[in-house]
Amino acid sequence: MTTTFTTPESGLTSLTAAELAEKIHSREVTSREVVQAHLDRIAETDGEINAFLHVGAEEALAAADAVDRSLDAGEKPASPLAGVPLALKDLFTTTDAPTTAASKILEGYVAPYDATVTRKLREAGIPILGKTNLDEFAMGSSTENSAFGPTRNPFDLERTAGGSGGGSSAALASGQAPLAIGTDTGGSIRQPAALTGTVGVKPTYGTVSRYGMIACASSLDQGGPTARTVLDAALLHEVIAGHDEFDGTSVDKPVADVVAAAREGASGDLTGVKVGLIKQFERDGWQPGVMEAYHAAVEQLVAQGAETVEVDCPHFDDALAAYYLILPCEVSSNLARFDGMRYGLRAGDDGTRSADDVMSITRAEGFGPEVKRRIMLGTYALSVGYYDAYYLQAQRVRTLIARDFARAFEQVDVLVSPTTPTTAFKLGEKNDDPLAMYNFDLCTLPLNLAGLCGMTVPSGLASDTNLPTGLQIMAPAFADDRLYRVGAAYEAGRG
Ligand code: GLN
Repeated sequence: MTTTFTTPESGLTSLTAAELAEKIHSREVTSREVVQAHLDRIAETDGEINAFLHVGAEEALAAADAVDRSLDAGEKPASPLAGVPLALKDLFTTTDAPTTAASKILEGYVAPYDATVTRKLREAGIPILGKTNLDEFAMGSSTENSAFGPTRNPFDLERTAGGSGGGSSAALASGQAPLAIGTDTGGSIRQPAALTGTVGVKPTYGTVSRYGMIACASSLDQGGPTARTVLDAALLHEVIAGHDEFDGTSVDKPVADVVAAAREGASGDLTGVKVGLIKQFERDGWQPGVMEAYHAAVEQLVAQGAETVEVDCPHFDDALAAYYLILPCEVSSNLARFDGMRYGLRAGDDGTRSADDVMSITRAEGFGPEVKRRIMLGTYALSVGYYDAYYLQAQRVRTLIARDFARAFEQVDVLVSPTTPTTAFKLGEKNDDPLAMYNFDLCTLPLNLAGLCGMTVPSGLASDTNLPTGLQIMAPAFADDRLYRVGAAYEAGRG
């Protein structure tokens, strides 16, 4: 039972995106065959895994055919990944499929425009297999907050695939897709990637357009690539990153050459690289098997030539509290637009009720409990009299965390930590305890508060649970290439 759902060992669904691209571009296989193999794998496994909220078989095959026709005509591939299919987190708008954010309030909603990320994928010739499951509006750590049922971990169907992007990560880990897109507000790319033994990257804030990506907390949200190898993630990163005039926080700067960095890292040589070990992420009480995998990873980095330095980031201890104030505040304002007047669900509109009543009935019916909890917390924290005590105070802590990072990066090139404090937990285990769920993001969310970039790379199965662990690598803003260099080297070293 435990291995039947992980990536197959042979056939087209066992290959990396780079391998598939090579076969498609050399015409050894067609993109249609590759897409069909993944659609078959989805049909075979997704009844159990529930990674997809929507599968767009016809649209994916049509996109594949367009790539095949152009390659058959002798044209150059539109991108290094042309023809290789992908799973898209259902937070990005698509004109040819519903975009629900896994919420009842948007059930069946089809957007009038493509997100910039969606558009870039299409222009790169990447067929979109479908839209993947998530915690409602990306709030959660297990996909159990999805209105459409949780995603199950391909390594153990009784366990979570993480969250909020559990669907994208489970799709990768089960061989349903060789590439996927996630979003990371406090860890939603890195955490599920770690729990499913895949690679996930949160790019530097402002480098991947948020246009058409449904907002959770706008100052923290960032779309990013997930894949089964560091090189695949780099190839996808290159496709989706870049300045976008439709996103006011998009940075007009050249994107770091992540693909070159991944290729360079593949040599495995880390001579001269300074790696910081964060004192605050060396805790008693974290799962022994996770810490063991982490220490083994650090030892390996050293064996590959890296030098380690212990760094102190004292304010990381306050990151969770600051995050869970700032995020709800932004959520309470961002989600005000879902009022039954413009999008999706409208409930209670029997012709006699006022607009105000219809809005409140719609929101009461349309949002799940975690989303409501955060809207209420945020509204409270922003209200007169509490703003200074909560929101402003949290913003000050945010500055202190950014300073901790800045000081650390004066001493080292990258920082590392375990990506999560434990391996995948059982579905239902943390449902009655929101704080336990929040605590699961301790390692990932400081990075979002500071707007920097991070990656998780598989660091083997924990000896005590036999489930995947992840090594988190963090780098300064706009130094995303360092993640790929170190990540690829570590991956090569592990073999
Ligand atoms: N689990 C975190 C939260 O619930 C992170 C979510 C995310 O990154 N979208 O907010």
